[in-house]
Amino acid sequence: MRTVDLPSRLAEWSRPGGPFDPAVLSAHDEAETFPAEACAALDAWGLPAYYVPARHGGRQDRLDEFLALLRTVAAQDLTVAVAHGKTFLGGVCTWLAGDAGPADLLARQVLAGEPVAWGLTEPDGGSDLLAGSLTATRHGSGWQLSGRKWPVNNATRGHLLCVLARTDPAGGPRGFTVFLIDKRATAVDTVRPLPKMPTHGVRGADISGVEFRQTRVPAHALVGTVGGGLELVLKALQLTRIVCVSLSLGAGDHALGLLRRFLHERRLYGRQLASLPHVRTTAGRAAAHQFLAEAVAHTAARAAHQVPEELSVISAVAKAFVPSLIQSQLRLIGDLLGTRGFLTGVEGYGAFAKLERDHQVVPIFDGSTWVNRAALAGVLPLLRPGRRAAASEAASPVHWLREEHHPAPLDMRRLRLMAPRDSVLGALPALVAGLDAREESSKAAAETASLAGALLEAYERLGTDLADVRPTGGPPSTATMRLAERYEWCFAGAAALALHHARPRLRTGPWGTDEAWLHGCLTLVLEGLGRRPAQATRTYDRLGTVVASAPDVPVSVLDDRGPDGPARDGSVEVSAT
Ligand SMILES: Cc1cc2nc3c(=O)[nH]c(=O)nc-3n(C[C@H](O)[C@H](O)[C@H](O)COP(=O)(O)OP(=O)(O)OC[C@H]3O[C@@H](n4cnc5c(N)ncnc54)[C@H](O)[C@@H]3O)c2cc1C
Repeated sequence: MRTVDLPSRLAEWSRPGGPFDPAVLSAHDEAETFPAEACAALDAWGLPAYYVPARHGGRQDRLDEFLALLRTVAAQDLTVAVAHGKTFLGGVCTWLAGDAGPADLLARQVLAGEPVAWGLTEPDGGSDLLAGSLTATRHGSGWQLSGRKWPVNNATRGHLLCVLARTDPAGGPRGFTVFLIDKRATAVDTVRPLPKMPTHGVRGADISGVEFRQTRVPAHALVGTVGGGLELVLKALQLTRIVCVSLSLGAGDHALGLLRRFLHERRLYGRQLASLPHVRTTAGRAAAHQFLAEAVAHTAARAAHQVPEELSVISAVAKAFVPSLIQSQLRLIGDLLGTRGFLTGVEGYGAFAKLERDHQVVPIFDGSTWVNRAALAGVLPLLRPGRRAAASEAASPVHWLREEHHPAPLDMRRLRLMAPRDSVLGALPALVAGLDAREESSKAAAETASLAGALLEAYERLGTDLADVRPTGGPPSTATMRLAERYEWCFAGAAALALHHARPRLRTGPWGTDEAWLHGCLTLVLEGLGRRPAQATRTYDRLGTVVASAPDVPVSVLDDRGPDGPARDGSVEVSAT
C-alpha cells in the first residue's frame, strides 16, 4: 500500500531545511505566513488523490486509511493538515451529489492540486445554517450570487469554493442550495477576498473569507438539486466530522512524542522523571486518552462504510467526543512538560505550545462540540436502549472492526438525516455478555469483566434516565445535553470493547498484555461517567511505565507502519529551534 510511505517521507521532509522542518513551520507560524512548501510536498506526494473518490479517478476508497494519512500529517504539523485537508471537506458535497453536479470537473481540478474551500459560515450566522443570507438567484441559464462567507479556510488561496446559498427568500430546510464556484471563471471585481484573519492557532493558515457581488456563475455550478443544499450539507458533515477527528489524533501523537522525549531526557532529584509515581500515572492517563480517541475515530470511520445510515449519530458522537478528549489529554501533557510546555523556543519543545494552540480550533469548526452534542441530544429519545430492534450480526462492530475485514465501498447514497439505530452502543450488552462467557480466568480478564459490567450498568442507568426525555423539537435542555455527554462516554467504551473483541492482536504486546490498554480506556470512560474504578491508579501506572520505558512502541492500538518505519509522532525528528 503506497500510503505507508508517507511517514517516511514526512521524516525526510522534517530534516533541517526541508519543507516540514519544525524551524521552517514555526517561522511560518510566527510570521503568519502560509506553509506553502509543506503543502507543495504533499501535493507532489499525491495526497490530493485521496480527496477524490475512486469512482471519480482518485484513490479515496477507505475512510479509515484516509484518517490514518491525515493523522500522520497532523502529527507533524496541525496547521499544514488543516490547510491541506480542507480540500477533502470542500469536495464532499459534490461527490455526494454524484451525477447531479460538477463531480468530474472537480475531480480533475483536485487531482491537479487545486485547493477547494468550503463556505458555510457567515458573519451573522455562525452555527445557524438556516440564517445564511448569501443569496443565489436565477440569471439567464445560470445564477447570480451576492453575500459573504466568513471565516473560511483557504477562501483566498482556493480558486474553487463550495458554498451554501439561499435560493428561496423565505429560507427554511428546502430554501438553500449548494454551488461550486470557480473564481477564475467569474467577472472581474465580482468576487472580493476578505482579509486573512489573525488567529490564536493555525496562524499560517489562510483563514479569510469571500464576498460575492452579483457574481454570475454558470448553470453547471449547481451541486445537487435546487433546494436540496441543506440536506446535502448535513450529510456531507457526517463524513467531514469523522475526518476532522484525525486532526485530534495527530495532535495527540505529536504531544505524546514530545512527552516521551521529555521523560527520557529529564532528570530530577538524581533520577529519571518517570520514577515519580504521579508523573507515571499522568503519562498513562494521557496514553489512555489516545487509545480511547483511536477506538472512537476508527470505529466511526469503519461505520461510514458498514452502517452509513447510522452516521448522523456516530459522526456527532465522534466530533463531540474526540476533540474534547484530546483537549484534556493536551492539558495533562502540558502539565507534565511544565515550563517546556509553555516556552516556545526551548530545545524543540516549543512545538507543544504551537500544537496546543492549533488544536483549539478542532473542537470549534465543522460543528462545535456543543453543536454536535445538541444534535445527539435531539435524537436521544429515539436511541434509548431497547427502543429499536438490535442490528443484524453483519452490522455489529465486532464483525466490521476485524483487522482482515475489507470495508464495503463507501456508498454515500445510504446516508440518512436520521439514524434508525446505533449499532455500536447497541452492541454493548452482547459485548459484555461475551466477556462474561470467556473461558479465560486470569486476573486481567476478571478486571475487564468488572469494568465492562460497570459500564453496562451505567448504560442501563442512562436508558432509565432517557425514558423521561421527550422529543421537544426545540433546543435540548442542559440536562439532556448532559445525558448526551453520558451517551458519548458509553459509546466510547463500547467502541473500545468492540475493537478489543474484534482484534486478537490487541490482547498481546506491550499495550495488550494483561488487557492494559482496554483497562485504561474503560477506566477513563467510567471516570467520565462519574465513577472512580478502584484500580485506576494501578492501570494508569502500568500504561505510564510503557510510555516512559519503551519509546519505540507507538502509543497506538491501530499502528499500521512497517517494522522499520519511523514513529508516527515524529518524536525523533524534533530539532532544537
Ligand atoms: C480557524 C477557523 C477556520 C474555519 N473555517 C471554516 C471554513 O472553512 N468554512 C466555514 O464555513 N466555516 C469555518 N469556520 C467557522 C466555524 O465553523 C464556525 O466557528 C462555526 O460555524 C461556529 O460559528 P461561531 O464560532 O460564530 O459560533 P456561534 O455559532 O456564534 O456559537 C456561539 C456558541 O454557541 C454554541 N452553540 C451554537 N449552536 C449551538 C447549539 N445548537 N447548541 C448548543 N450550543 C450551541 C457554540 O458552540 C458556541 O460556543 C472556521 C472557524 C475558524 C475559527
